[in-house]
Amino acid sequence: MQASFIRTAGNVLLGTERKQRLRIWRSLMAANVFVACVALQIYAAWAGFMEPEEVWHVSTAIVINIVVWYAVMRSGLNLRFEDPAMTLPQIISAITIIVGGYAVTGPVHGSTMMLLTLVLVFGIFNMRPKGSRIAAGYTVVLMGLTILYKMDTDPVNYPLKLEFAHFALTAAIVPTISSLAAQLSSLRSRLQAQKDELANALVRIQILATRDDLTGLLNRRHMIEVLGQHRKRLDRTGHHRFCLALLDIDHFKRINDTHGHGVGDEVLRGFAAAVQRALRDTDVLARWGGEEFLVLLNDTSPELANMGLERARTLLNETCLVMGLPEVKATFSAGLTPYDDNEPLDVCIDRADRALYLAKASGRNCTVIRADTGQAQAQPSTVGAPAAPSTAQHAALHA
Ligand code: GH3
Ligand code: MG
Ligand code: MG
Repeated sequence: MQASFIRTAGNVLLGTERKQRLRIWRSLMAANVFVACVALQIYAAWAGFMEPEEVWHVSTAIVINIVVWYAVMRSGLNLRFEDPAMTLPQIISAITIIVGGYAVTGPVHGSTMMLLTLVLVFGIFNMRPKGSRIAAGYTVVLMGLTILYKMDTDPVNYPLKLEFAHFALTAAIVPTISSLAAQLSSLRSRLQAQKDELANALVRIQILATRDDLTGLLNRRHMIEVLGQHRKRLDRTGHHRFCLALLDIDHFKRINDTHGHGVGDEVLRGFAAAVQRALRDTDVLARWGGEEFLVLLNDTSPELANMGLERARTLLNETCLVMGLPEVKATFSAGLTPYDDNEPLDVCIDRADRALYLAKASGRNCTVIRADTGQAQAQPSTVGAPAAPSTAQHAALHA
């Protein structure tokens, strides 16, 4: 109950987006510095070093500063800027207020200098080198001008010798912090670059491990994994029956021999793209090896699956596979089989392979459907020649 209240309050205060929450949280943490500044002024007023009215002015400026930055972050306005953390503007406004505090805290003004360094330290973690140089330059110049002004208007509390020491200290410490921030920033950039490189390498490795280089289709290893998942799903649910089809390009060797390996590769790429286009989105096409392809046809009967293969034949017939060589065509023979409940995958693939063999024997450019009963049926192609297996071949298939 209490935990859920704290979570709800946290969500209301900081929002729910992880990065935004962190930015708002950091901004509120930095507000601690302001609280210390207000406390110092209250102490100065209590000890008689400051007028209560001045405390009131500076404290109001501080509260407005906290509220404005919180509103900018919480409303998401910060996301429109290049640096959504808005570190530099937040630091500049904090420095301005603290230097303002330095100017009004009379005899205890030296204490505010510590707060200056604290503000700059906040910036170390996510400012770029340029940002930290700007913040450092701004701090030194603003302090210098303020010191000059106060020495002139309030020489009792801001005597030359003391102010010289303060300025010398500021001019020495602030650039040191800035250069530290720059070093950290370049370290961060290097780490980020390494992280990006690793992430890219991981994506490349994943592609290499799962895709075929030439066609971009799933490779054999990954296809086996995909088939395993489908099989498990079917075994578990009893739904999502599937068929497997093994496709082999007809007389592919001739293409290589006549036109060369380069054209052969083009044909493989064009073939893969055309078949992929002809199949349904839910079907999975993989390069099984050489000029052989395995198709997983989901949620379908062999007869319907065969319609997909016939679509592929038609598309292949219409497609120019190699630019500038429209006469180069490819047909394929296919062995198609439904996956039978609980059988090992290699048994199913083997059946598709035997059906493919029969399709080749039937004169190629056709599909043989084979169920686990061992009955094979040649499906005459509707595209290209040879059209249908001869009667003798049919008889051989059913023998
Ligand atoms: P069939 O109709 O009986 O299948 O005849 P085929 O010529 O297609 O079959 P065969 O198995 O005799 O030849 C397949 C050829 O495919 C042989 C091999 O050099 C070629 N091949 C295999 N992989 C590639 C490849 O990545 N690129 C190219 N260009 N050729 C390949
Ligand atoms: Mg082959
Ligand atoms: Mg072949």
